[in-house]
Amino acid sequence: MAEILVLIDHADGEVKKVSFELLTLARSLGEAAAVWIGPGYEAAADKIAEYGPAKVYVAADAELTGYVVAPKVEVLQQLAAGAGAVLVAATGEGKEIAGRLAVRLDSGVLTDVVGVTPDLVAEHSVFGGSVIAHAKVTKGTPVIAVRPNAIALEAAPGSPAVEQVSVALSDAAKGAKITDRVVQEKGERPDLTEASIVVSGGRGVGGAENFKVIEGLADSLGAAVGASRAATDAGWYPHQFQVGQTGKTVSPQLYVAAGISGAIQHRAGMQTSKTIVAVNKDPEAPIFELVDFGVVGDLFQVVPQLTEEITKR
Ligand code: FAD
Repeated sequence: MAEILVLIDHADGEVKKVSFELLTLARSLGEAAAVWIGPGYEAAADKIAEYGPAKVYVAADAELTGYVVAPKVEVLQQLAAGAGAVLVAATGEGKEIAGRLAVRLDSGVLTDVVGVTPDLVAEHSVFGGSVIAHAKVTKGTPVIAVRPNAIALEAAPGSPAVEQVSVALSDAAKGAKITDRVVQEKGERPDLTEASIVVSGGRGVGGAENFKVIEGLADSLGAAVGASRAATDAGWYPHQFQVGQTGKTVSPQLYVAAGISGAIQHRAGMQTSKTIVAVNKDPEAPIFELVDFGVVGDLFQVVPQLTEEITKR
């Protein structure tokens, strides 16, 4: 059975949930093998073993995380010879790694993938989310970047073999050194790209102060807060929470859009959400073309009622 390599996405000692989703997916495609790059594997070992990799490759040298993505590409390149596929998270960093790795392997890359069949046909959204494509890499080891939340988690506890890996970095990999890391305050809410529920507000929210209506609903659901570009450009909500083509891509179980018209650039970041709910006072708003449930109404009436009802339960 071919080995399916999974790059474990971790930061500050925390393994991102998407890594466990990738391991779940890898097990359906072949023999899952996790790749841990940087120090700190020991603390995460038990959690990783829960998702059933047959093997874990550990490249523990701290130098590997001292540079921008290139060293991770070199580790994966060394391991990928003969692998059935390489899976990474479709985050900003993951997609950069995927592209660079595919060039190094002289193979092909598929990004923003939401599903992969056992014969490695991937379903992914392209052209800013306006088209869902089924595609397969036809040459070499496929490199596949999978969206967080696209794969349902399934544990399969095991005891993986651990193999230490050392890589002599090329000069090219040392081209961009990380000089400082600023850890942003995470707050109480889940990470936007990993959250299983996202509640977003748009221009219809009308101002920074009013975003507390959106936050109230989000908190009643244990959700992350998102925003359209109209709202972030107006300074009503920080840019890091923007959803869309030039913001974050989310694929939660539930996406609630309040006061958002549904422009193509916004859809690009959220239309692979499993269930989409919109609240908009304009019955002709384009967002209603893609929703599962739509409420035509004023968000300042609908959203607080919804929050109250959910909080009661
Ligand atoms: P609008 O389009 O103005 O819609 C506001 C909606 O709120 C309307 O439908 C209105 O009926 C409704 N409304 C108003 N008041 C209420 C109320 N009280 N109750 C209920 N509903 C109400 N946009 C993004 O979101 N993300 C991106 O990443 C992004 N990238 C872009 C990249 C490029 C290159 C370009 C050109 C544009 C990009 N945009 C992006 C902008 C995008 O085209 C839209 O302008 C933007 O998404 C509109 O945001 P909105 O839906 O909040 O505002």
